[in-house]
Amino acid sequence: MSSPQILDGKLVAAAVLDECRAETAALQALGVTPGLAVVLVGDDPASKVYVGSKVRTCAELGFHSRKIELPAETTQEQLLEVVRDLNADPAIHGILVQSPPPKHIDEEAIVRALDPCKDVDGFHPENVAKLVLEDPTGFVPCTPAGCMKLLETSGIETSGAEAVVIGRSMIVGKPMAMLLVAKNSNATVTIAHSRSKDLPAICRRADILIAAVGRPEMVKADWVKPGAVVIDVGINRVTDESKKSGYRLTGDVAFEEVAPNCSAITPVPGGVGPMTIAMLMKNTLQAARQLSGVK
Ligand code: NDP
Repeated sequence: MSSPQILDGKLVAAAVLDECRAETAALQALGVTPGLAVVLVGDDPASKVYVGSKVRTCAELGFHSRKIELPAETTQEQLLEVVRDLNADPAIHGILVQSPPPKHIDEEAIVRALDPCKDVDGFHPENVAKLVLEDPTGFVPCTPAGCMKLLETSGIETSGAEAVVIGRSMIVGKPMAMLLVAKNSNATVTIAHSRSKDLPAICRRADILIAAVGRPEMVKADWVKPGAVVIDVGINRVTDESKKSGYRLTGDVAFEEVAPNCSAITPVPGGVGPMTIAMLMKNTLQAARQLSGVK
């Protein structure tokens, strides 16, 4: 088999961000500056990195951004108060509460308290319903939206394809499956999870295999049909003494052994990861347009 197409998320994300930059300038000319608030509770190191790059990207695009860092002891009521203030703030169009919050916080209650018109993560039940209804005024969760954008810009045909999504989280697996089965994608979708029987056999059916599990290099070469497209959402830290940090990032797919067997594959890092932030910026622009009434 010839070498697979490497689906370069950095390149596609850069193009999406260029579009966002132009759209931001057009909105600003009409008196609207897109505003994103990112709320971080506690000091989880990975969350700090994610929040930092979201705020930096806002600055690069000319968005107004607000980073709200709260101590790990913040109570549920205090966090709800912050969310209510941001809901009422006209300079803020998008609100994101970085996941995971500390254990004593009821994340679902926080998501439900968000104004759905500012829920740029797309986790509020109203946006989940709009995704199922295929209503374009809703916000699609950024990671699966990024996977779809990668497939689309890489010219990968989804219509009629057998797609298998491993993972059924509300952040990745379920919305991913919804997007693939939607009328503008037309894939035939299977969702697999930890109770699925004979996962390798299910995966081998896939023309498009999406791994969103959180288990390093779980998907092996003999799980993948020759010529399949493989999208690796996983971001796992594995110990690596040869690195200064003491770890390296790896996906849910054993890239080295799987890549030669497939037609296209995303690397980790540099595949789905960069797309997630780009789609967050796109969602914030959509929120700014919808809330300000500017088309
Ligand atoms: P969750 O832990 O919420 O969900 C994992 C899913 O995988 C669950 O549905 C679980 O099944 C399933 N699963 C776990 N073990 C197995 C197994 N052995 N066989 C089959 N299925 C299994 O994770 P997320 O969806 O939030 O994230 C998944 C991965 O994607 C993680 O590595 C995360 O870091 C990464 N991620 C990457 C992003 C990016 O920007 N690239 C953004 C978000 C996440 P069950 O429901 O039965 O427990």
